Amino acid sequence: MRIAIIGGGIAGLAAAYELEKARAAGAAVEYTLFEERPRLGGSLDSEIVDGAVLERGPDSFLTEKPAAAELCRELGLGGELIPSNDAARKTYIVTRNRLVALPDGLMFLVPTKLVPTALTRLFSVRTKMRMALELLHPPRPNDGDESVAALVKRHFGQEAVDRLADPLLSGIYGGDATQLSAQTVLPRLVEMETNYGSLTRGMLAAHRKMRAMAKSSRQQEAREQGSEGAARSIFTALRGGMGQLVGAIVARLDAASVRTATPVSGIEKTAQGWRIAAGGASENFDALIMAAPAWIAGELLTPVDAVLGSELGGIPYSSSITVNLVYDEGKIGPLPEGFGFLVPAVEGRAMLACTFAHRKFLGRTRPGKAVFRAFLGGMKRTDLLSENDEALVEVVRREMREILGAKTIGAEVEPELAQVTRWRRAMAQYAVGHKARMQRVSARVAALPGLRLVGNAYDGIGVPDCIRLGRRAARELAGVPEPVAAAKR
Ligand SMILES: Cc1cc2nc3c(=O)[nH]c(=O)nc-3n(C[C@H](O)[C@H](O)[C@H](O)COP(=O)(O)OP(=O)(O)OC[C@H]3O[C@@H](n4cnc5c(N)ncnc54)[C@H](O)[C@@H]3O)c2cc1C
Repeated sequence: MRIAIIGGGIAGLAAAYELEKARAAGAAVEYTLFEERPRLGGSLDSEIVDGAVLERGPDSFLTEKPAAAELCRELGLGGELIPSNDAARKTYIVTRNRLVALPDGLMFLVPTKLVPTALTRLFSVRTKMRMALELLHPPRPNDGDESVAALVKRHFGQEAVDRLADPLLSGIYGGDATQLSAQTVLPRLVEMETNYGSLTRGMLAAHRKMRAMAKSSRQQEAREQGSEGAARSIFTALRGGMGQLVGAIVARLDAASVRTATPVSGIEKTAQGWRIAAGGASENFDALIMAAPAWIAGELLTPVDAVLGSELGGIPYSSSITVNLVYDEGKIGPLPEGFGFLVPAVEGRAMLACTFAHRKFLGRTRPGKAVFRAFLGGMKRTDLLSENDEALVEVVRREMREILGAKTIGAEVEPELAQVTRWRRAMAQYAVGHKARMQRVSARVAALPGLRLVGNAYDGIGVPDCIRLGRRAARELAGVPEPVAAAKR
């Protein structure tokens, strides 16, 4: 079976890796991966400059989603996995130009601890009262999708949307809480509202259950390993950056099967399979793994199925900009504890978030250096994409100075290095109605034998989700059974 993969981001690479494994194990499969750019990895793009790991795209993955760490271990990178420095974990929300720490006990936007919520400067007294009264919220039938902002506002009020939901979601999705789907982005909260009414009561019940399960699994691990099961970090990264994962996958692939700088320009459905036009030639394949962004997939698939093309084209994407700044720690003042800060849109700034990268993961920067990773853009500030690099660096320096204080980073302190990256339409947005759209997409895809859609537009935007979908699509097409652990997830 000949399989074409369109797109060499992490989803397409994970698919290629799985097909290469099947081929090496004797399965009758061949694959060709087409990538538009000269470089593989898509949004994964790291560089080591003067001893500092600089991530232009993702810097890590959620530990609780195992697909990425599993793949790293399979590739021999187990020893390179490093945990986030959770002992120093503290995140701030910029509130009227000051940094206010997220209150302790906040779980998925839901406050679960009375004292920290009562004492925080993040919310007004009115919002705090509302949060206390939320415990009495009656159950509500799950009758269709709504925005995250609508769900949070109904329970905790507009201030919780502005000061909590909006910055947290724009920090993760570059998105807009008034557009994102509650059903897709926060399915657990929707379920809790149906079952408990109050999200706080639902969250406390879930937490008790999770603690009991974690305790029994730690005891199980301790029995198996003869040690206390170590607490897992929230994020996991690679010591040398996400580029290590890309490099390790590419090293396993058959070089003749990978075509970089070769954009696919046309797709045709034939009686036997698929005809792919790329690099001035056309080739026939039995199956097709579409791993390009959905808006490109939509354009390419429109001649095959116009309805599918329009559904895919309708998935919104956000653009963002990352600005990495490296400073000599000796030239800046003391930083507040923690991993960094998020900036609500109501603050009217260009920055969405800023990570103190040298704090989040230890040992990835030479001692004495501080690495700041700022995010700008998102759904609300697409205008920033047309600014030049110097202007963007200046905006970040000014806003950091205003937020952290001139004593921490004075105007005269120049960064030793500044790196700007624009990510145009790179992050899919799960807008209201996403789940229903996915059901319609699945029905159309089911009528096109040999077609699989993978990537961040469908069932999770994180790196682990893209890996899981890519590998699953490849296994299905190559007839390789799903491993038991993966099938359960
Ligand atoms: C700035 C930023 C920070 C992020 N941070 C995190 C994080 O910390 N943790 C996390 O888990 N996730 C994070 N994400 C999300 C995650 O990185 C992405 O969702 C994921 O990498 C997307 O992978 P993909 O393979 O679906 O798409 P992409 O990486 O977009 O790859 C698609 C590929 O298709 C190629 N292509 C397009 N058109 C064609 C064509 N016609 N022919 C051939 N090839 C084509 C593109 O060139 C590209 O290489 C971040 C994303 C961004 C942008």
